[in-house]
Amino acid sequence: MTVEKNNSKEKNDKSLSYPTCHKCNGINYCTVGRASKILDNCPMKVSPEVQKKARELYETDEFVKKSTRVASIVEATGYIHWPRLKDTIEFARKMGYTKLGMAFCVGMLEEAKKIAEILEKYGFEVSSVCCKTGSVKKTAVGVPEEFTMYSKTGYTIGWITCNPVAQALLLNKAKTDMNIIVGLCVGHDITFTRLSEAPVTTLIAKDRSMPHNPAGVLFSHYGKEFFSREFKELMANKMKKKV
Ligand code: SF4
Repeated sequence: MTVEKNNSKEKNDKSLSYPTCHKCNGINYCTVGRASKILDNCPMKVSPEVQKKARELYETDEFVKKSTRVASIVEATGYIHWPRLKDTIEFARKMGYTKLGMAFCVGMLEEAKKIAEILEKYGFEVSSVCCKTGSVKKTAVGVPEEFTMYSKTGYTIGWITCNPVAQALLLNKAKTDMNIIVGLCVGHDITFTRLSEAPVTTLIAKDRSMPHNPAGVLFSHYGKEFFSREFKELMANKMKKKV
């Protein structure tokens, strides 16, 4: 009852044509087999045809069938106890993969070495490609000169571009069964995933200010301060535009 009161805005928002599951307010009725009592745009109510299509794919697409089953078995087996690296290893093993690729950031060479050493001990063949492969100039791929050499926060970043395209093409050539992202930049990870022929998983998500733990910003004092400054600036810019 209280929940429905608290969510009157969402309940009345019937015009939304896209799903907003994040507003289900911790109830998430689907976890107990029901559509939302709070949201009118619950995808279980408004997109039954999509839910039907998804169910069909679990039955007809061999990759989806196998990877979904394996992922759930890995989750249940190591729940809370296994680090993500062990989940990755067990997923790959149960999928029958033997050749793994690593697309890593040059700043994570030590991490990449350690990961490869562990994977090899589990019997995998590991191919790896560093993000700076090809030594392509940033300006040659359309990066304006002012965004090369030094970051806007004053750190040396150099003139050679990250090269997620070559990383993907080289791992495609090596015919890897699955590729692992180790600290690629936001955007470069997307390009890599788009071009990789093998399925891709992320082991380390780069976050330079949060020691590669992007979730750390969400409930920390630092995160609150950071976004509060950002929002103030956004508001100020909006006001300026109105004047
Ligand atoms: S699918 Fe429906 S019930 Fe589940 S979280 Fe989304 S809105 Fe809520």
